[in-house]
Amino acid sequence: MSLKNSKITVIKIGSSLLIDHKKRVRKKWLTSFAEDVKNLRKLNQKIVIVSSGAIAMGCKKMNILKKNLKLDKSQAMASIGQIELMNLFSEIFSKFKINISQILLTLEDTEQRRRSINARRTFENLFNLNYIPVVNENDTIATSEIKYGDNDRLASRVAQIINADNLVLFSDVDGLYTDNPKKNNKAKLIKEIKDIEQDLTGVNIKGINEYGSGGMKTKIEAAKICQLSGSNMIIANGLKNHPIQHILNGDNYTLFVSKLSKLDARKKWILSSISPKGSVIIDDGANKALGNGKSLLAAGIKKVVGKFNKGDHIKVLNKKDKEIARGLASFSSDEIKKILGKHSNEIEKILGYVSKSEVIHKDDMVEII
Ligand code: GLU
Repeated sequence: MSLKNSKITVIKIGSSLLIDHKKRVRKKWLTSFAEDVKNLRKLNQKIVIVSSGAIAMGCKKMNILKKNLKLDKSQAMASIGQIELMNLFSEIFSKFKINISQILLTLEDTEQRRRSINARRTFENLFNLNYIPVVNENDTIATSEIKYGDNDRLASRVAQIINADNLVLFSDVDGLYTDNPKKNNKAKLIKEIKDIEQDLTGVNIKGINEYGSGGMKTKIEAAKICQLSGSNMIIANGLKNHPIQHILNGDNYTLFVSKLSKLDARKKWILSSISPKGSVIIDDGANKALGNGKSLLAAGIKKVVGKFNKGDHIKVLNKKDKEIARGLASFSSDEIKKILGKHSNEIEKILGYVSKSEVIHKDDMVEII
């Protein structure tokens, strides 16, 4: 899905875009970026910004050199700088009446299913409140073993968690080249990559890692995560004012096209759930309907086992207790107990509120063959 048509977009900006080499904050640039974000919102996009800059802002405030800082010192700088960073965002984005919030994540938050589901709910609630979450790594507590250390991969995990259509990584170069463009004038910008392994053969990986803030290695790692999670990824030059507009205008950039559709990625994720929270036992009619790719309705459910919440992974069993599908429940186990066997148009009356009519929507369910 193109950036213009994207429904959920994650945009990552690096420290060098926010603070120049003379340690000046690039307010004019950030203002142009905020205006671009406002325009994306007019297209009804849900947006998350992943921003670096905590350590750089902390060092600026304390007048300390960022280079060669030890981990404990950089954590203190991140603590001092994160609030500066958010104040900056708040000051600039409020000019466009955009509400922002802060989310600090560690590697564990995005790698552990439970925590990532929690994070996902928070993102969804913030979208509903019309807030734009600004994410950074929780540098202050992340030790080296549990640290991303780069916001490229963190941003790709965020894209995966919230099922984004596009992730934009703004760098200080136009995209991924066949070699280091600063050293080799024959280096060419790669415009589109469909298969990372295949399309990168012949690319001087060592050379390309020497240019661009943070290097290209972590960006390729991020692209691998995106390709398997149904999200496209763009590496583009963010230095110019109105960086998003430049992409929409078709300027130079590198596009990594996702291998899986979002739907397939979602289904893969559902199947990979290690511990479903409960199960529902369904009748023959529902069993047949599921086989035809239909959603699971309350009418076909005979029994609920276990205690689970709305959004939890559950198993779907046939009358013989055989697992035939797995999916995300649209209702809690307590709610299903009240509505099982009932027609969908009775649900609202029984529960007393408007809700989805499917107990598991077909997009949230995978058949087990
Ligand atoms: N989380 C770090 C910071 O805000 C930056 C990590 C990165 O540059 O990718 O300073």
